[in-house]
Amino acid sequence: MLSKTFKGGVHLKYYKELTENKPIRRVSLPQEIIIPLLQHAGAACVPIVKPGDLVETGMLIAESEKLISAPIHSPVSGKIKAIKKTCHPIIGACNSVVIIPDGKNEAEKFLKPICQDTDGLNSSEIIAIVHRCGIVGLGGAAFPTHIKLSPPKDKHIDTFILNGAECEPFLTCDDRMMQERPEGIIKGALLIMKAVKITSGIIAIEDNKPRAISAMQSALDMIHPSGQAIRIVTLRTKYPQGGEKQLIKAILGREVPPLKLPFDVGCIVENVQTAYAIYEAVYCNKPLYERAITVTGDAIEEPANLLVKIGTPVSHIVKNCGGIKGKLGKLIIGGPMMGIAQYATDVPVVKAVSGILALSKESARIDTQEYCIRCGKCKESCPVNLIPTDIAKAAECSHFDIATTLNATDCIECGCCSYVCPSHIPLVQLIKHAKRSIACQI
Ligand code: SF4
Ligand code: SF4
Repeated sequence: MLSKTFKGGVHLKYYKELTENKPIRRVSLPQEIIIPLLQHAGAACVPIVKPGDLVETGMLIAESEKLISAPIHSPVSGKIKAIKKTCHPIIGACNSVVIIPDGKNEAEKFLKPICQDTDGLNSSEIIAIVHRCGIVGLGGAAFPTHIKLSPPKDKHIDTFILNGAECEPFLTCDDRMMQERPEGIIKGALLIMKAVKITSGIIAIEDNKPRAISAMQSALDMIHPSGQAIRIVTLRTKYPQGGEKQLIKAILGREVPPLKLPFDVGCIVENVQTAYAIYEAVYCNKPLYERAITVTGDAIEEPANLLVKIGTPVSHIVKNCGGIKGKLGKLIIGGPMMGIAQYATDVPVVKAVSGILALSKESARIDTQEYCIRCGKCKESCPVNLIPTDIAKAAECSHFDIATTLNATDCIECGCCSYVCPSHIPLVQLIKHAKRSIACQI
């Protein structure tokens, strides 16, 4: 059977071989853990601890009364050193809780399942646990999961899609999670379906991950969900296949209209690591305080897949991977297409971070920009049918009204247009600029 796909997008060189055979291993404790109070979409949390307080692993340290937010827990046992402004890998800077770990390993209390039988749990109870444990979307958006699992009452949801399409080049942590922890991921997926009260689920995996497909299929055969139908669908390897709208189009043929969300077309989409975090929350009472990430790139001495406590500084993680090889050209949080370039290595890992990419000077080289030759390649590659060259031109001239009529706000910032442009025009940067300026005018 042919693998499913969507219109537009690009075929990239993936560089997954650097880490795809590297099992996930744990990183040593750093001297200091820095926990930003904003690591999710929505309102920042307010600390409920103060300098000098002692904390335990998994203890609640910050929360918010706002509707869209997610509580934050300590990833270590130790002493609060300070609450102060620190660097943040995504928003630049943010107030953070700084903890000095005492080295006690209390994480064992979350390793053994305390709840083997989830049949007795109803939808609200599952959603309450997901909220209490601070779970957010681990695919990058970091949207609070308890909100996503509570769609408006007038929306009819009929399908859950488990997103195993890790389409960013270099990143392999989701692939490794599916190979190493498939049972937990599937149990988490079944809990999501129960929370949203739907019986039909699809596990979406790209065809460049045959071992993940096989491990997930074996686990599925073993679990035999009763009353819930869940199956694996293979997707053609193409970027950005992991985008929610591209997944829904490829699998169900449904088009999510501009400014609408998956639940507007009857779907809920969650990343595989989010499903695993839900499994750990419900079965082991474990809050979200660590996640798997990929550390890679030609400037990393020993590329790896790591289980990292939230708040661990990037500098500590890079050191744990043998340090920087040669001259560092660019340090990126996330993948090369949608990641964010960093100016310092003292930023901490937050819940939304899926990778650290260190590129050599040679790999990070930026080609000289030339004039647009109207080749149309940017338009052909755009997965949401925009005309990137026209939006970019409007943005350059600060004609944001024109950018608005060209639907600049529909851009998912995938970077396909910049990637294919033979004139090396920084289209995605210009379109991002247009989007921010339009948002400020509203
Ligand atoms: S315009 Fe936006 S959505 Fe379209 S290819 Fe460029 S970055 Fe991607
Ligand atoms: S791909 Fe580049 S050169 Fe071609 S039309 Fe788009 S902006 Fe112009």
